[in-house]
Amino acid sequence: MKLVAQWLAPLVGVFISHSAALAETVLPLRGEITVMNTLSTPQFYGPSTIGFHHGLDLLADAGTAIYAPVSGKVAMQNYYPRANTPYTYEVSIQTETGYRWELHHIDETTIPDSVRQLAQTGEDVEAGTFLGEVFDATVVNTLPHLHLNVLDPEGYYVNPRQFLPEIDDEIAPTIRGLYLVNDQGNVVENPSSGDYELVVDVVDAIPPSTIDQSIYRLEVTSQSGEETTLWQRLFDQLPIPGDFISEATAIYRSEPITLTDGSILAHQFEPELPRRFLYRVPIELQVGTTLIQVTAADFSGNQNQSTLTFETSPCSSCGD
Ligand SMILES: [Zn+2]
Repeated sequence: MKLVAQWLAPLVGVFISHSAALAETVLPLRGEITVMNTLSTPQFYGPSTIGFHHGLDLLADAGTAIYAPVSGKVAMQNYYPRANTPYTYEVSIQTETGYRWELHHIDETTIPDSVRQLAQTGEDVEAGTFLGEVFDATVVNTLPHLHLNVLDPEGYYVNPRQFLPEIDDEIAPTIRGLYLVNDQGNVVENPSSGDYELVVDVVDAIPPSTIDQSIYRLEVTSQSGEETTLWQRLFDQLPIPGDFISEATAIYRSEPITLTDGSILAHQFEPELPRRFLYRVPIELQVGTTLIQVTAADFSGNQNQSTLTFETSPCSSCGD
């Protein structure tokens, strides 16, 4: 319950203020939109560093035209100087309301002189202006795409989909498994009372993509007597300003779990599909019957539920 208070409660107000601060926006690509990753998609930044994707990836062929999603002051630069390649070129737009929109993987050579001039004079670019073309990311072994970040006036990474025109999606997230895991990482079927982790194996897809995204809202309730919300995440913004690494390990389980038949289930991001995202939810089981219900929803409101029931014995020495 503490976890809920930490992150969810402030989001309600933030969401309202973002909506109020909404300027007119357009999708940065024309034609059919294919979403590849969302704000909350887990990513590995280095061999063992898990983080949030922190933006929205739209799949597009190299050379696809990119348009300004919003009006504001335009600038261009390499981002993340540690990876100083043409893949890491960014055009950013600072809106009047203090939001910073960052468009990554633009082919620097295709940015028109008129846009460069606006950057020099400090004049506004208008929403819908051609900014350049999608860079050929196959040179860095990635599918060509546009990556879009939105940072709010306090520097939090926020969900770009809050501001963009609707992207159609009628497919609900799939909950592939729910597991109660002990501190050894083993799945337990007949638990004693005490502390565990509930591991939720869930993915979402937004057609026509064949690549799994991550979900928008995850909620876990428990019923032993009265119903309690144990844990809730709403991926409207990341928890710490300017930071897309911290807190991810508290949400995603990067270590594998061992199922009751001895097989191993692990978080799987790439290279093979489908991806597998394991969410970790701390849970304390009381003696008696506990019904756990997990609800996973996507940004369009499609949702699925799954439940687990446990009969919990009184103490660790008298159960298994
Ligand atoms: Zn991206």
